[in-house]
Amino acid sequence: MKLLSIIIPVYNEAENIAPLYAELGMHCKVEYEVIFVDDGSTDATLTAIEAIATTDRRYKCISLSRNFGHQNALMAGMNHAAGDTIIIMDGDLQHPPALITAMLDKLDEGYDLVSTKRNSTENIGLFKKILAAVFYRFINFISDTKIEANVADFKAFNSKVLKSVLQFKERELFLRGLFSWIGFKTATISFDAPARKYGTTKYSFGKMLKLALKGTTSFSFKPLRIALLIGSLISLAAFGFGIFALVAYFQGNTIPGWASLIIAVMFLGGTQLLAIGLLGEYIASLFTETKNRPLYLVNKKVNFPETE
Ligand code: UDP
Ligand code: MG
Repeated sequence: MKLLSIIIPVYNEAENIAPLYAELGMHCKVEYEVIFVDDGSTDATLTAIEAIATTDRRYKCISLSRNFGHQNALMAGMNHAAGDTIIIMDGDLQHPPALITAMLDKLDEGYDLVSTKRNSTENIGLFKKILAAVFYRFINFISDTKIEANVADFKAFNSKVLKSVLQFKERELFLRGLFSWIGFKTATISFDAPARKYGTTKYSFGKMLKLALKGTTSFSFKPLRIALLIGSLISLAAFGFGIFALVAYFQGNTIPGWASLIIAVMFLGGTQLLAIGLLGEYIASLFTETKNRPLYLVNKKVNFPETE
């Protein structure tokens, strides 16, 4: 009998657990297990999960020692999935369980990975919408791996894909890029994302920015090349300006020149800082990777065999 593992990272989603449980029970027609990854919640999320887990052994939980972030929580879940088929989804009911059957059907048709794409984004704030649009434009410009906009971290895949994803040992996880990078036969389903059932978004502006930076530096070296290109162009321009100044000097019509000087200095200084900042970002990634720290630490497991 085939088993489906549903992985759901949750961070302070206490009110969403019971409605999610009801929906999953309604829409899962195959044998399944649900792995909640409690990403260091500070509210009653773990209690809510445990209440379900004591009566329904199919519901399991990995509780992390602190908040490690959505991407790492997903990795924790995938490391513990026993199923032949895996589904990853959010715990706020923005990823409708009603879609699960359609996703599994696609896998049965012979696809290895079923990705989903949000149709409507009406429930997302204008600011977040613009930010996301800019980010995806930028990342597709700099990266060789195509990363589609509006693709959700709501996916179904087989064990072949799971094994591939688990081979990645990088600390700076950007799963959306990774799922695109690995290839395999992929189908995409669109869906209308409803508004969040309860609570507020757990992706703060800072967290989004961090994810965007990870996505940028972990999938391309092109930003470094752009810095190099801009640097070269400016140097060339500075050289030309030097010649111009020299000629002007010999012609005896040198200008007091404060404005041109300050502009040149500021422009050069600015671009240098930009390039250095960019370098710093890559060095920081190197630093994180070489430390080789664990992606997450487990505090407690519920309904897993003792040996694990
Ligand atoms: N999440 C998490 N750790 C975090 C932030 C978010 O596990 O540090 C979970 C969150 O509980 C939810 C999912 O990741 O199940 C997606 O987060 P959210 O719905 O807040 O993001 P949005 O849909 O607003 O982009
Ligand atoms: Mg959400």
